[in-house]
Amino acid sequence: INNVTISNDAKPPAAVKEEDLDEVNPADASLLMKIIRKGLIETKTDLDIQRKDPNSPLYSVKTFEALHLKPELLRGVYAMGYNNPSKIQETALPTLIADPPQNMIAQSQSGTGKTAAFTLAMLTRVDTAKDFPQVLCLSPTYELAIQTGEVAARMAKFCPEIRIRYAVRGEDIARGTKLTDHVIIGTPGKVLDWSLKFHAFDLSKITVFVLDEADVMIAQQGHQDQCIRLHKHLSKKCQMMLFSATYEKKVMEFAEYIVPSPITIRLKKEEEVLDNIKQYYVRCPNQDIKYQAIANIYGVITIGQAIIFCHTRKTAGWLASKMAQEGHSVGVLSGELTVEQRLAVLDRFREGHEKVLITTNVLSRGIDIEQVNIVVNFDLPVDQTGRADCETYLHRIGRTGRFGKHGIAINLVDSEQSMKVCRDIERHFGKKIMLLDAENSDEIE
Ligand code: ADP
Repeated sequence: INNVTISNDAKPPAAVKEEDLDEVNPADASLLMKIIRKGLIETKTDLDIQRKDPNSPLYSVKTFEALHLKPELLRGVYAMGYNNPSKIQETALPTLIADPPQNMIAQSQSGTGKTAAFTLAMLTRVDTAKDFPQVLCLSPTYELAIQTGEVAARMAKFCPEIRIRYAVRGEDIARGTKLTDHVIIGTPGKVLDWSLKFHAFDLSKITVFVLDEADVMIAQQGHQDQCIRLHKHLSKKCQMMLFSATYEKKVMEFAEYIVPSPITIRLKKEEEVLDNIKQYYVRCPNQDIKYQAIANIYGVITIGQAIIFCHTRKTAGWLASKMAQEGHSVGVLSGELTVEQRLAVLDRFREGHEKVLITTNVLSRGIDIEQVNIVVNFDLPVDQTGRADCETYLHRIGRTGRFGKHGIAINLVDSEQSMKVCRDIERHFGKKIMLLDAENSDEIE
């Protein structure tokens, strides 16, 4: 009895120690995700796109028809139950299947449609009149290669003339074999053996090279070296694409080594979008003080550009004409403009003719202008009932801080109601929105 003591101050278990945790092997984690997942992950964020020439057109599609695929391939896509391209596919696919071929690095969390995108791109490039390997896809493990191969086989269901071959453990070929398959999907070691050791196919004849799960791949130093060895034998004309679920520096350095002059696309998670954006609010009790805050902000923009979001066209028009009267050059973009007029306004802004663009929610999504480093919410985004519209906030603020650059978001708070909206947004994203003293605009530099 004496031994049994019931303690009232039972301690919580000691903090979990690192060594008590099971190692999570990234390849296993990735495989599990693929097996467990039922479908696409919905994403509310915009795509972040980086390319050498920001003015080069970049197409995106809303349907698979718009890709002008071979009818058998389109049938395969529909047979898999894909009705429309996912967010990342909308932009990746037209670029990947365009001529001349373009190189691409794409990063997004798993479940966003990367595998389906590159599998389709691979299949469109196969020339079945030629009976040698033309497409090479590297996966970090046996299981992941099989997963990709199964997607490819399903998609090519109505294209029986396309031959797909696994280069993975357990698949062996006799010395002297010359492969006649069009698509090779395998792990780096096996692919090295088949190509450089057994000369079963010619790496210089590969026209599409895919490196999947790059982040998992480089977690093993051996794999990274093998990829680099293979890569050295590819032709300069070979289209290179690399996919990763994460975006660490290590992965991106490797990616840029493997993929020359790429178009890089990223689909960030909601919480990541706000990571490199400093968010502020300014208390502005009336419209004049709001205007004054804008004028102060205009004064401190020495590099870069700002976008100001207003709730209504009327406010946008009012603010623009007031600023113009005071000699500031501003562009205005609102819903009453025709599509041509909107494009003209955007072109002028992109070329730097104006430092500031005033707009309504018409611009809250889909437009990427790299130089924008300040976003101002002249009015905080609210829905029809007057409550915080966090999704619109994310799209607006996401116009800045793109591709790792730092951005600033400033919210003009003019009432107790808008203060509440500001707090609700802060709570929703779990990111601090700090008070900014508009008199002391040095802080935002
Ligand atoms: P990731 O490679 O980014 O992990 P996947 O290409 O494996 O993503 O796609 C995730 C899931 O969504 C898979 O089950 C896949 O079959 C499905 N999927 C992919 N693209 C589409 C689409 N356009 N429409 C519907 N489902 C899709």
